[in-house]
Amino acid sequence: MESTIRTMIKNLSEKKGEEVLIKGWVDVKRDQGKMAFFDFRDATGKVQGVVFGKPEVLEVAKTLRPEWVVAVKGKVQERNDKQAKAYREEVEKTGKRPFFNKDVELEITGFEILNKAETPVFEITSDTSEINEEVRLKNRYLDLRTQRMQNNIRMRAKAMQLLRKELNEENFVEIETPVLTKSTPEGARDYVVPSRLTPHHFYALPQSPQQYKQLLMSAGMERYYQFAKCLRDEDLRGDRQPEFTQLDMEMSFVEEEDIIQLNERLLITLVEKLYPEKRIQQIPFPRMSYAEAMEKYGNDRPDIREDKNDPNLLAFVWIVDFPFFEKTADSDDPQAKGEWTFTHNPFSLSKPEFVEDLKAGKNIENIVAAQYDIVLNGYEIGGGSIRAHDPEILRSILRILGHSDEKIEENFGHMLKALGSGTPPHGGIAWGFDRLMMILQNEKTIREVIAFPKNGEGRDPLMEAPSTITQEQLDELFIELKELPKKKDE
Ligand code: ASP
Repeated sequence: MESTIRTMIKNLSEKKGEEVLIKGWVDVKRDQGKMAFFDFRDATGKVQGVVFGKPEVLEVAKTLRPEWVVAVKGKVQERNDKQAKAYREEVEKTGKRPFFNKDVELEITGFEILNKAETPVFEITSDTSEINEEVRLKNRYLDLRTQRMQNNIRMRAKAMQLLRKELNEENFVEIETPVLTKSTPEGARDYVVPSRLTPHHFYALPQSPQQYKQLLMSAGMERYYQFAKCLRDEDLRGDRQPEFTQLDMEMSFVEEEDIIQLNERLLITLVEKLYPEKRIQQIPFPRMSYAEAMEKYGNDRPDIREDKNDPNLLAFVWIVDFPFFEKTADSDDPQAKGEWTFTHNPFSLSKPEFVEDLKAGKNIENIVAAQYDIVLNGYEIGGGSIRAHDPEILRSILRILGHSDEKIEENFGHMLKALGSGTPPHGGIAWGFDRLMMILQNEKTIREVIAFPKNGEGRDPLMEAPSTITQEQLDELFIELKELPKKKDE
């Protein structure tokens, strides 16, 4: 086949009557003896193709199977059947072109087979949400070919692009922070990575960029953001993933109100631009104190939707006025040694009227944090706080949490020093980006909006991670493996 420029399927309607070349996958094949019908698919759409009256082309057509990769030459013809009429009516009504272009079809004049494919383990044309998830994850590249998953991943990319643009326009600087870092006391268990160059020492993978983003405020960056990978070695209850993505932000010279308003604007813009079919229940977003949420709903992420059956209704609510501390008995924080632990973040500040109590370590149970969560349809989709920028306040918080002065120096010396170097007042927030995308895409789990998620046991069935490593690798790291405890039934 002589080379021609490739036409993307979504643009075929503009080429009626022309000879074109498309490249993509065989989505469906219908062999009808003297004729063969196909649906072809590329990243932009689907279109029907037909082979008729060309014996040498028909011969090749008959060998093709679903998911084979092909280059197809043909003439673009306007369709005039019932489906075509319905298609045009829909375009007229919605102004949007559905993925399957039924306005035209391709009168095929030639094929080139670019690659063959084994029969896929499930149908790419189906909605795979009902298929065994282990099978889907093991064959994720096939799963991602389906239209629903393509849409989820592409909408995620669009949302990232839009948020980057908005934040850049607001003078935020996108800054990457390290993935190899030091254990941070943020409440969960750390993933650790052995260091070869400093044997017997370990890096921790970040639970969040909390300390780095605050150090960036010490560094005079003033407005930071990042789509950050966060890693937490937790038991995978419910819909958690060992690694997930936050849209992480930090701002200098701001108060709670500034952060709330900026984030509210961002969320509204995101919905209006990418999800015009959705309705935000209330703007400005309502606010509710932690105490009120607990009293009325029994939890701090209330679902306040007027109509829970409406998939296009978005009910945002800010939860504010959290208690700063709680008794460790009520917490699952493994690092808390004292009687008190933080409810969200040890680096937070209290509301102004409690700063003296915070400094003096008095009235602890009543101290209210300058902390806010954003909740959507019953899910916490983000949270943040104004931080303690005075090193003496941070020191006092850490003492309340039961850390000895020696431990404070060892674990937080760098933060105290940075705060004491001329750090501006600052605060921030982080969005659980996967969760937000899950809700916007009307999905039930965050795994549906993550390209390569882990399964319920924290494994990646496609790459088969985690896996063992070689004796040489262990030797280099000076690591000796202990025998595993015997299982009960052995
Ligand atoms: N680092 C916090 C978290 O991961 C969010 C924040 O306070 O900005 O929950």
